[in-house]
Amino acid sequence: MPKIYPDPESEKAIMGSLVFCIHHKQGCKWSDELRKLKAHLNTCKHDAIQCPNKCGSQIPRVMMTDHLAFTCILRRAICEFCNVEFTGIGLEEHAGTCSSEPIYCESKCGTRVLRGRMSIHRAKDCAKRLRRCPHCGREFSADTLAAHGATCPRSPVPCPQRCDAGPFARAELDAHLRDECKALTVPCTFKEAGCRFKGPRHLLEAHLEANTSAHLSLMVALSGRQGQQINMLKSAMAKLSTNYTGTLLWKITDWSVKMQEAKTKDGLELVSPPFYTSQYGYKLQASMFLNGNGPGEGTHVSVYIKVLPGEYDALLKWPFSHSVTFTLFEQGTLGSGGGGQGGVAESFVPDPTWENFQRPSTEPDALGFGFPRFVSHELLNRRPFVRDDTVFLRVKVDPSKIVAV
Ligand SMILES: [Zn+2]
Ligand SMILES: [Zn+2]
Ligand SMILES: [Zn+2]
Ligand SMILES: [Zn+2]
Ligand SMILES: [Zn+2]
Ligand SMILES: [Zn+2]
Ligand SMILES: [Zn+2]
Repeated sequence: MPKIYPDPESEKAIMGSLVFCIHHKQGCKWSDELRKLKAHLNTCKHDAIQCPNKCGSQIPRVMMTDHLAFTCILRRAICEFCNVEFTGIGLEEHAGTCSSEPIYCESKCGTRVLRGRMSIHRAKDCAKRLRRCPHCGREFSADTLAAHGATCPRSPVPCPQRCDAGPFARAELDAHLRDECKALTVPCTFKEAGCRFKGPRHLLEAHLEANTSAHLSLMVALSGRQGQQINMLKSAMAKLSTNYTGTLLWKITDWSVKMQEAKTKDGLELVSPPFYTSQYGYKLQASMFLNGNGPGEGTHVSVYIKVLPGEYDALLKWPFSHSVTFTLFEQGTLGSGGGGQGGVAESFVPDPTWENFQRPSTEPDALGFGFPRFVSHELLNRRPFVRDDTVFLRVKVDPSKIVAV
């Protein structure tokens, strides 16, 4: 500063006078001797100066460092990724587009790639890029395609039996093994009948041709075994339906046809289903001559009971001595008042000396014991014994020996 003061004393006085900062009105609180003002202005934060880059901004001295480094649009700035030098405003435009900046892949594969190489990465390297399975055509991300290949139903696999055919789509392998693979070991078609042959499918035909008669024998034996099983089942079924109550209600249908037949054929006998007197009792069977026999022949219906060889005969008392009652029911008279069901009834208690009631041999007598003149044809026609061409005969066996009708 030029010395304009006339004398050192007055200069000293002036320079020593108290002043405020020239930016007092902008809020600077500084106040001191005039001679210190210049030094203050160098640090006064309200003292704006021109940006040295000539960007046109007035910047408070204290902000200038920041301005030059970060906000001056004409500052010199170098992109940290591509090292190209820009003005500040140029760098702002460049940021976010620099092709040398590493960024995360948008497909979220987790890789960082230079922005400029992203499209190549996504097309060729990215683990998440979609790829089409060449066998089934479905799309998978590249990192799961290999795993899919191990299970893809259309991917070709060789026959595990190493036959000549194939390779096959994985999904068709089962059908190949089951239906056509020539190398697969198969059992003989007659396995169920007992043939033990096992071999590659292409040898089966020769085996079948060479063993026709052996297979036939196996089949005969098998059908024999099956026949036995059927018989066992039949007798089990018969047992299930066997009557063990001691009372047989024998329903005889098509009465007129049977009567007609009996009149033309001598000695025609109808037999009832066998029944037991109790669960472990005697096995009995009733029989009927529609046109009579013996003293009733031609005029009466005869009824008989015979003892059949039963399963528990060895444990039973012989001779058979239960009372037996035959009842032929009139039909449609039930509830007509005065004595209930009408009908014809006959009973007997076996005489211990009668041959018919000894323990039966396996070939029992043809004829049992009964009533040759049980009911006359004349009575049969007069009373309602036959209804809907059907007759009911009850045979009741009673161990009490009391004859009750
Ligand atoms: Zn100031
Ligand atoms: Zn500037
Ligand atoms: Zn850059
Ligand atoms: Zn990626
Ligand atoms: Zn596939
Ligand atoms: Zn095969
Ligand atoms: Zn065989």
